Amino acid sequence: MRKLIIEARVNEYMMREQGNPHVPYSPQEIAADAQACREAGAAILHFHARQPDGQPDHAAAAYADTVERVRASSDILVHPTLGYVTLDASGEERLDHILAMAKDPARAPHFAPIDMGSVNVDRYNAQARRFETTNLVYKNSTETLVYFAQNIREAGMKPYLVSWTIGFTRYAGAFLDMGLIDEPAFICFCLTDNTFLGGHPGTLKGLQAHLDFLPADRRVEWTVVNFGGNLFSLAAAIIAQGGHISIGLGDYHYPELGQPTNADLVRRIAEIARELGREVATPAEAKAILAMT
Ligand code: ZN
Repeated sequence: MRKLIIEARVNEYMMREQGNPHVPYSPQEIAADAQACREAGAAILHFHARQPDGQPDHAAAAYADTVERVRASSDILVHPTLGYVTLDASGEERLDHILAMAKDPARAPHFAPIDMGSVNVDRYNAQARRFETTNLVYKNSTETLVYFAQNIREAGMKPYLVSWTIGFTRYAGAFLDMGLIDEPAFICFCLTDNTFLGGHPGTLKGLQAHLDFLPADRRVEWTVVNFGGNLFSLAAAIIAQGGHISIGLGDYHYPELGQPTNADLVRRIAEIARELGREVATPAEAKAILAMT
C-alpha cells in the first residue's frame, strides 16, 4: 500500500486557554512546531496566522512571514488557510494573500484549501441545549469555488478539497468532470464532533458515508480530519483503507493524552501506521503520491 501522508493541523483558531499550552501562535512558534512535526513524520503543515495573543491575524504579511520561516527551516509542504476578514469576504479577498505568496519561491505555498460548499459553523452547546451563535455561515458559492479552482491551479498549487458532507464530495466529483481539478484529487473529509454539527460525526459510519460517495471513476487521495474530536479511534481504519491522516491541536486539544504537542500526535500516528505495515511519506513522496510538480 502506498505510504501514509500525515498532515499536521497545528493551530486553527484553538486558544491555549482551552486546555493545551502547546498551540503555536507566532510565526516563530509555527515554524518551530513545523520542524518538530516534520521530524515526527508529517509531510504537510496546515496553519492559520495568529497574533502573539492568539487572535486571528488576517494580514498577508503574517502569512508571508510564517511561510518564509517554515520553508527556510524545513522541507515540509505548506498549506496555509484562506484569509478572511469576515465570513462574507469575496473569493478574491480570501485568495489574494495566497496568490501573492505563490509568486515568490521563498514563500510559495504547496496547497490552498477549497471547501466545496457552504455550511453553518455556529457551535452547539449540548448541555445548555442552545447554539452559542446563530448566524455564522461559511459561504462558498459555486462561482467562488470555480474562481478558487482556476486560480489555485494557475498559480501552481495543489487544491486541497475539503468535504464536510456528501454534497461537498459530489461537488468535488463535478469539478473533476468539468476539468477544473486535476487527478488525483486530494480530498479532506472534515468530520466534526462535539460542538460543530455541520459535518458527518467522527465515527466509522460518518467516515464510511463519505467513502461510499466518492466518485467511482476518478483517482482520489483522501485524508481525514476530526474537527472538535479525537481522531485516534478512527486512525487504524483510515490507515487500513488507504486514507491519509490530518491531525493536530488546532482541531482538538487531546486531554486524553495529557497535554501533547503537535509532534506527539504525529509521532503516535506514525507508530500506528508502522504497526499496520504502512510507512510514512516524506514531503517529496507525498508530492509524488499527489502528482504535484
Ligand atoms: Zn484550517
